Amino acid sequence: MRVSYKYVSFALGLLIWSCHPPSPKQTSESLSEGTPERGVQFSTDAFKAQTGATAVPPNVVLLTIDTLRADFISPYGGPARTPNLTQLAQNGWLFRNCFSTSMLTNPSHASIMTSLFPKDHGVYDNQSGIKNKLPTLARAMASRGYRTLAVVSFPHLNEKTSNLAQGFEHVIEATSPQRDASKAVAHALDLVDRIGTGEQFFLWVHLVDPHAPYNDSPTAIAHHNLPVKNQPMRRVIKSAPGFQRTNKWFRWAMENFHTTHPLVNRYIAEIERADTGVGQLLDGLYQRGYGTNTAYFVTSDHGENLGERDLYFHHGGLYKETLHVPLIAYLPTETPTVINELVQTIDIAPTILEATQTPLWSPMRGRPLSRIVRGKSPGRSYVFSEHMHKQMVSVRSNNGTLLLHLKDENQFPSYPMRQGKTEFYDTSSDPGELHQITTESPLKQTLRLQLEQYLNDGLNFDPRPAYAQDLDSLRALGYLE
Ligand SMILES: [Zn+2]
Repeated sequence: MRVSYKYVSFALGLLIWSCHPPSPKQTSESLSEGTPERGVQFSTDAFKAQTGATAVPPNVVLLTIDTLRADFISPYGGPARTPNLTQLAQNGWLFRNCFSTSMLTNPSHASIMTSLFPKDHGVYDNQSGIKNKLPTLARAMASRGYRTLAVVSFPHLNEKTSNLAQGFEHVIEATSPQRDASKAVAHALDLVDRIGTGEQFFLWVHLVDPHAPYNDSPTAIAHHNLPVKNQPMRRVIKSAPGFQRTNKWFRWAMENFHTTHPLVNRYIAEIERADTGVGQLLDGLYQRGYGTNTAYFVTSDHGENLGERDLYFHHGGLYKETLHVPLIAYLPTETPTVINELVQTIDIAPTILEATQTPLWSPMRGRPLSRIVRGKSPGRSYVFSEHMHKQMVSVRSNNGTLLLHLKDENQFPSYPMRQGKTEFYDTSSDPGELHQITTESPLKQTLRLQLEQYLNDGLNFDPRPAYAQDLDSLRALGYLE
């Protein structure tokens, strides 16, 4: 059930801005207010209480909201009304250009937790996990003396499959293909209630509402100015891969809608439900006395295809719609800042370690983001991502994207992969990566060299062998025929 607390929105927002004025250091942009707000909005008293917080290392909450495109949420100017994410962004660090290392759940989460690329940790599917005893964020935080707690909401992130429970003292695993944000948050707060007053905690909460199937939301209000085209459903049916043709929800969707926008609106409603869960978590922690010294990091493992390249309601390819993810970091003692530099989700772990005065481990591919935020260090010149099953690899700079197909693959009828094929996009003039440029250029050559270097520089750890998991959940989520 959704609850609306309109009274905490605008007036208190102004009060907080006056108490804790943002002073962006790298840009004069102000955050978009986006569309009208809805859903639970957490008490802004939490931020009042944190003003003037001490240098005691904070509790840390890491929220990974599965399948969340950055360009669909309010802080990035998107249509979804996400007041809680907006408030975190307005009071924290908003990274406008963060990219995931993969378009799939387990490889991407493995990167977030290990600060390694897929070529390093070796996880390329949703059925295997990281090797035992690999350094992870949870292990490091536990060594630092933090109580380590987690809630995961997909069975393939459970310990037996992903092996990401290493270092966590308490994990509430998924028992069904999907779990609502409010239920995941209730579990998270139960875990927090298990630890003693005054103990510091690291809490990872994985929310999955935006992932298909997009369940109906009776309070959803349709948006009309959507950033993706409205396509006839016959086009979706024509380009549907086998796993969608056999999936119960996809079949229902294809039979009951004539165009794609009603389903895009359902995706938005799911995002808004996840944001409501974020608000419930923030309020729940504040009411438990954790309002004064808690840091929040919010990101996603990948985005979603909503019609680009005739891929629908899933995540395939290494394009912006599947890799550009939100990254919002709220740290009690830091100044609100908007950052346009390129960063990756592998930078989250070292940033958390630095903020909690925890030693960084080695090997680690990420770097603490604080120096970039303060303008003392440039962002990444290049960001890299890999497709499931090592089918493709991509590199991005501030003005170009190069994709290299590594295998032949016909899983997506509208987007066959061909070994050795490259795709190059000049994103300074084509930010949507829509128009391939086949002629050579210095930028294209530079990106090709960067990809070669990336591929030759892997740590090549073996993943833990696939666990014979309950495949029904992967089938329900549209991963298997
Ligand atoms: Zn995912």
